[in-house]
Amino acid sequence: MSATAIVNAKGEDRIRGGHPWIYRSDVMDVANVEPGIVVNVRGPRNRDLGHALFSDQSQITLRMIARDDRAIDEAFWRERLAAAIGFREILEIDATAYRLVHGEADLLPSLIVDRYGDYLVMQALSQGMDRLTPTLVRLLVELTGAKGVLARNDPKVRLLEGLEQKVAAVHGTVPETIPVREGAVAYDVDPWRGQKTGLFLDQRENRAAAARYAHGVLLDCFSYNGGFALALAPHCQAVEALDVSAEAVARITANAAANGLANVTAREANVFDELRHLERDGARFDTIVLDPPAFAKNKAAVANALAGYKEINLRALRLLAPGGYLITCSCSYNVDESMFAQAVFDASVDAHVPVTLVEKRMQGRDHPVLLGVPETYYLKSLILRKLA
Ligand code: SAH
Repeated sequence: MSATAIVNAKGEDRIRGGHPWIYRSDVMDVANVEPGIVVNVRGPRNRDLGHALFSDQSQITLRMIARDDRAIDEAFWRERLAAAIGFREILEIDATAYRLVHGEADLLPSLIVDRYGDYLVMQALSQGMDRLTPTLVRLLVELTGAKGVLARNDPKVRLLEGLEQKVAAVHGTVPETIPVREGAVAYDVDPWRGQKTGLFLDQRENRAAAARYAHGVLLDCFSYNGGFALALAPHCQAVEALDVSAEAVARITANAAANGLANVTAREANVFDELRHLERDGARFDTIVLDPPAFAKNKAAVANALAGYKEINLRALRLLAPGGYLITCSCSYNVDESMFAQAVFDASVDAHVPVTLVEKRMQGRDHPVLLGVPETYYLKSLILRKLA
């Protein structure tokens, strides 16, 4: 007999509303349940609500995986993974690196799988997915033919699950660097140590969109390994990329050289200070990209985050030449689309310049948003034009 978790009326409503996360406070009873196993979920009047992954540590005690009574066996996981992979195949992605599984939005809560060429990088972010890893790896290899799979299990959220932070090859061998291509840009990705799983895959389509407007002199702020700088460089006369990390700056320079992009220079700088210095020096740019790290990691940080977004957008609008474009992004889930748009609008008011909104964008299509689960919509990207 499978283990059972009983949720209260609030938990039942949440499940019926389509949200997969049930918090500890809404779980009334869990009997003889081991960490990370699949449990049968029942409502307060014993109604069968489906199946979930159980965590004995996280505030998110249950993560729903199915809202019917079908068996949760290997065939179930194969079908889920195959559906996620099949969806990416129809997207006609012009890259050899992209997301194959986007957690909740692929009905595989707390599981991330990214493809880098012949290799996969996965993150199991709950006790349930951690426990399932051997099965998932076997199925992923069967479905994709991957030569190697790296478990990039170093995100801090694993600590909330009582899981260790560990990076290890879980199938085959995974090299230190993997050559991939995004559009026309070639990268040597370090899946073991690079940020996230190696690249910021969620910006691929926004880089391609930005390339349609980029011209003249480009300033790429928060450049990491040059994602925007390299994609936009062929459309620009000169490109200046900024990042606070010396390692990132070295990588941008190496990537520019490897791609034969002679017009890209990278500098180590704190963007907040550097935008002020550039303004003081009377610098002008035709295109500016702002792609900062998440300023609001939690609700308490929202006010400061909005002040930060307003400040960098205000300075960027001042530095922009008339007719210039600003590509401005926020990946803070806690700052939603309307809050972010308001901060950018406030910046344009303070800058005393007329600005049009040319495109409103989000994370790429391989990172879809699950309706009813706002947590899956985190990346906002606006393309603005300064008119005068
Ligand atoms: N634009 C990149 C991703 C940016 S990730 C892409 O398209 O791939 C955010 C980057 O901002 C990181 O590389 C981090 O080192 C850098 N960063 C964080 N705070 C910074 C600051 N105050 N000034 C400059 N760079 C900063």
